[in-house]
Amino acid sequence: MSELLRRYLQTRRSLEEPPIELPGRTRAEVVRAIRRLDRAVERGGRADDVTRSDEEAGAEGGEVTDLERLSREGTAQEIEALPDLDSLREVAESCVRCPLHEERSSVVFGEGSRTARLVCVGEAPGAEEDRTGRPFVGRAGKLLDRLLLSAGFRREEVFICNVLKCRPPGNRDPEPGEIDRCSPYLLRQIELIDPAVILAFGSFASRTLLDVRDSIRSMRQQEHEFRGYPLAVTYHPAALLRNPNWTRPTWEDLQKVRRMVDDARDRKPESTNG
Ligand code: SF4
Repeated sequence: MSELLRRYLQTRRSLEEPPIELPGRTRAEVVRAIRRLDRAVERGGRADDVTRSDEEAGAEGGEVTDLERLSREGTAQEIEALPDLDSLREVAESCVRCPLHEERSSVVFGEGSRTARLVCVGEAPGAEEDRTGRPFVGRAGKLLDRLLLSAGFRREEVFICNVLKCRPPGNRDPEPGEIDRCSPYLLRQIELIDPAVILAFGSFASRTLLDVRDSIRSMRQQEHEFRGYPLAVTYHPAALLRNPNWTRPTWEDLQKVRRMVDDARDRKPESTNG
């Protein structure tokens, strides 16, 4: 049910239909209510759960689950202990752990293969990502797709996500507190996917993952590791749209990433898409 609804809402957003509003309910409450509806339908129970608030659901017998609690007040350790990408997505999609939830339209969790050998990490959703719920869409996304293909990666065989899952208003720089609250999702995504290589796009994602203040030019030329995973740095596709002179060096970085992934193949069994 929630998967069907998610696809329906994404389609509405891509068609620029107006948002659906349930008066008196926050977006997070509606997402949690849909989860309850999923579970109620599974149990053959009541289908009117979607109209009840968290408090009403809780008063009727502890329907507010542990995942719902995590989306509101989970610690980093609890989120990093979630067992799979589905539960991680479920917590993230209702997350109110930092103020960015107040103005978002969508949580942009990330997309791609659950067993990707390459995880691509950008900074944060922009306006188009916030509207569609998908990472790296629009002109920068199309350019990313072409760059990946130039190195033999189809978009659907890698995993693409951002450091932050919600859009900072006006595309301002993320604040340290927001990064701190949101980073457990990214850390757990990487652990669960267990890629051969991580590719960081742009100075913000690179500096955040590597905890350095170096220039992107300098970071591109070094070998890095993040929690035991080889990490490469390149320019952000949106920056290439503003400065096409960086396209050639970015293409070269992607070819290097291709070699890194191929080299790692000998050290890790080939995975299948999920
Ligand atoms: S940015 Fe991250 S921590 Fe903040 S509300 Fe969104 S998912 Fe939660």
